[in-house]
Amino acid sequence: MKRIDEVLGELTLPAYTTAEDVCFALRAVAVHAAEQWPGGAVCRNDRAPHPCRLHRWGLRVLTDRGLSGEQIAEMAAAFEASKVRS
Ligand SMILES: [Zn+2]
Repeated sequence: MKRIDEVLGELTLPAYTTAEDVCFALRAVAVHAAEQWPGGAVCRNDRAPHPCRLHRWGLRVLTDRGLSGEQIAEMAAAFEASKVRS
């Protein structure tokens, strides 16, 4: 049986990336982070193999905006930290 990712394919990127898209993308990367299991890394939100569709979409949007992997990781960590405080 095919994985859901293979059936649905990639999510489309917005034609123009707005500030709101960047917020959604950052949230997607932070919420759909990897969780280590004995069988390998899975998305801690939907249990799909990591990186899941939404995580990949978020990375593509943020990369298109010129952010490096390191910057994205820092922003996702800050997003998670702000969620814990609120
Ligand atoms: Zn996910």
